[in-house]
Amino acid sequence: MKDLKILFTEEQIQDKIKELAELINNEYKSEELITICVLKGAVMFAVDLVKCLTMPVKMEFIRLSSYGSGTVSSGKVHAVDISLPDLNNKNVLIIEDIVDTGHTAKFLMDFINNNFKTKSTKFCSLLDKKISRVTEIEPDYYGFEIDDKFVVGYGLDYDGYYRNLKYIAYS
Ligand code: 5GP
Repeated sequence: MKDLKILFTEEQIQDKIKELAELINNEYKSEELITICVLKGAVMFAVDLVKCLTMPVKMEFIRLSSYGSGTVSSGKVHAVDISLPDLNNKNVLIIEDIVDTGHTAKFLMDFINNNFKTKSTKFCSLLDKKISRVTEIEPDYYGFEIDDKFVVGYGLDYDGYYRNLKYIAYS
């Protein structure tokens, strides 16, 4: 990707994470929360977000993929590693980098709700490309709404690269 332009700076991202964490802290108070980070894209966001949470937290990780290489969602969600502990009667918060078509979010919510009777299952995404949505899913929490741009940085990749950027950019 050439001539990357910054969409959200490191400071904007970190400020937004503090706002989201406040909402989540107010919602769950001191109840235990199981966060499920969707690898690899959500790793930076999940790590920074959980550091701002004040309730007892357990972190779980699952690995999914829907994009092969390139910039267009395939629509097919592929579970690479989805081993999870018993989530019955737990508050579960799925942490994603971006909701685009919504296929991944729907797959995950259905997977959790079909396999466990959780106390609650909610979805938190840093970015929301509402304009690209083809499923009915809406994140319970999201950081920024964005246009139909392919973005990289802060966990989001293009062909495996750019995840390490502290900001989010497009070209
Ligand atoms: P969905 O299933 O909602 O179409 O897509 C969700 C997944 O597609 C995200 O977890 C992310 O991995 C990938 N994705 C969607 N939009 C973008 C984007 O603009 N940039 C990058 N790097 N990945 C994206």
